[in-house]
Amino acid sequence: MSRHRNVRGYNYDEDLDDDDLYGQSVDDDYCISPATAAQFIYSSRQERPNVEPPLEEEEMEEDEAIHTSPTLTHNLNPLDQGKLYSCLDLMRAVLGDAMPESVLTQAALRCAFDPQRALDAVLSNNSEDIKTRKEKAKTKDREAGQCQLDSEVLPKVARMTVSGKKQTMGFDVPSTEENGVVPSPSVHRGGSPDDMTMKTSPETPSKRPETPSKGFGGAEEPPSVPTPGRTPGKAKQQLNVRAELEKRQGGKSLLNLVVIGHVDAGKSTLMGHLLYLLGNVNKRTMHKYEQESKKAGKASFAYAWVLDETGEERNRGVTMDVGMTKFETASKVVTLMDAPGHKDFIPNMITGAAQADVAVLVVDASRGEFEAGFEAGGQTREHGLLVRSLGVTQLAVAVNKMDQVNWQQERFKEIISKLGHFLKQAGFKDSDVFYVPTSGLSGENLTTRSSALALTSWYSGPCLLEQIDYFKPPQRSIEKPFRLCVSDVFKDQGSGFCVTGKIEAGYIQTGDRVLAMPPNETCTVKGISLHDDPLDWAAAGDHVSLTVTGMDIIKINVGCVFCDIKEPIRACSRFRARVLLFNIEVPITQGFPVVLHYQTISEPATIRKLVSVLHKSSGEVLKKKPKCLGKGMNAMVEIQTQRPVALELYKDFKELGRFMLRYVGSTIAAGVVTEIKE
Ligand code: GDP
Repeated sequence: MSRHRNVRGYNYDEDLDDDDLYGQSVDDDYCISPATAAQFIYSSRQERPNVEPPLEEEEMEEDEAIHTSPTLTHNLNPLDQGKLYSCLDLMRAVLGDAMPESVLTQAALRCAFDPQRALDAVLSNNSEDIKTRKEKAKTKDREAGQCQLDSEVLPKVARMTVSGKKQTMGFDVPSTEENGVVPSPSVHRGGSPDDMTMKTSPETPSKRPETPSKGFGGAEEPPSVPTPGRTPGKAKQQLNVRAELEKRQGGKSLLNLVVIGHVDAGKSTLMGHLLYLLGNVNKRTMHKYEQESKKAGKASFAYAWVLDETGEERNRGVTMDVGMTKFETASKVVTLMDAPGHKDFIPNMITGAAQADVAVLVVDASRGEFEAGFEAGGQTREHGLLVRSLGVTQLAVAVNKMDQVNWQQERFKEIISKLGHFLKQAGFKDSDVFYVPTSGLSGENLTTRSSALALTSWYSGPCLLEQIDYFKPPQRSIEKPFRLCVSDVFKDQGSGFCVTGKIEAGYIQTGDRVLAMPPNETCTVKGISLHDDPLDWAAAGDHVSLTVTGMDIIKINVGCVFCDIKEPIRACSRFRARVLLFNIEVPITQGFPVVLHYQTISEPATIRKLVSVLHKSSGEVLKKKPKCLGKGMNAMVEIQTQRPVALELYKDFKELGRFMLRYVGSTIAAGVVTEIKE
């Protein structure tokens, strides 16, 4: 599986295979062999110029076009009609009803029924269109002496559909070359961050785009004009991010939620069904998943397929990558990360959890299954510990597959008592853990409170969606310098390339120059998008995609941190940390090899020094220079990584100062950075 997953690289041909649902089958309907059809298709493209839409049709009134059948309008032969319908279906599967039929038809015709090209054409036209509308709106506002918010002026661009437009995170442990273990010359060329600022700041003003986008600050702020020599830092002060965030989300707070739990607990089914019930997956797509999963003999996985998108995930029936999608509750905009449960993919799970504010832990209520997930070797405990160590404090436990145990209250209570005890030990406060009985398969108690007597006779609490809505919104480090950890790098259309990741601190505006650490090089942010919507700015907590120019894609890896040029993050390969050791089998000695899991990276490392053993709660030094460390100990150690890693001190940036250590497939410790050495 590639971590450089390009949404535009989605293989629409796979969908085309399903011709009983989409489009018309050449064999069935036209009684000609595929070879003949191929010849026909080839010659028809050569001979029939009317595949290109006549020029005047491009200017056709939208309404008129909507009510005119494409068949009649474009005089298509039956085969091309089939191709057109198939192409339109695929386009609608991605865009939903966000765009008029006429626009889709025009694009399909222009692109010879190639759905991918047609989608690209429509989307790029649309973003152009939106830019123009934004400009117009802003000019109008300036004239009227008031600044109106983008979100009020503009419609949603393209609803984030689950099908084919999912962003993914996660990483394969990259090859030596890919990650540049052998340090590439570019890594050392950059010089100090200060040098970079000096070098790049003169070009900053000229490279910044038109400034109307800076007029967010509200009515009292005049539209800013680029001043020669003004630094990006100064320009940023004009944006009242907290107020703008409030407005952007329509008063709703943002919540990054990770779904965790043992493999087969029903995580993907539960969240896929929830998204379907919320209307985030259209009926047509759901029907397609049902048909496809039936064909594959995995009918019970239909809802899971909403989130498990890759062929490999579907074949194996397990989530491997971290899927990301968005939904809303009454008071929150939720970015959902579906983490893999299988132990082979714990590193990907850590990536997801490191970016989460809250978690939903899914456990299988079936007899024997809960126990299998909870006992040693199961992922329920490991995931619980991991998310807590990575800073998640609020947890909703979906006690799932309750249909399998006839919604028995005793079973629910039994699970609560076993889990509750463990979660308390893991560091969760009782008051921050909530238990909800659910059935991901039947959809019971997901988005609405259940009316099933078997449940209502003893449960009157909230459904899962309500519980998610009740989570306290996390504090965002907006006032701190900008930091974004790269979770994916890919080449998109146009100049530059894209990186995705969560903004951990500060905010960013289009036109800003930022520093990437490592490799200690600068680039310009040309575009920002959040859930496929283009934005002029984004702030801490947002999972964004940045289009950057002025840097070679080869230098950026998953795990790089994009940061403020003036207040950069430090990259080091040696640091001190306070660690809490888990249930380890072998004692840790000097030189012990580990894998450091930090934000979106996993990096080979060693325990270079055992500095001291500390008291668990007071932190007082109990023993200096111990010979070894055993299970449950709290200690200060020095860690040496193979390559430089961009890190922060825990006291400065909680989110960027936490890490996990793993050894031969088990998580052995959680730690916080206390001193950066080198
Ligand atoms: P994941 O590995 O945790 O993502 O689990 P999946 O969502 O892939 O589900 C694993 C299996 O459990 C599938 O066959 C699902 O149909 C089944 N399953 C999921 N939720 C439920 C449920 O609430 N009730 C029952 N009976 N089966 C479920």
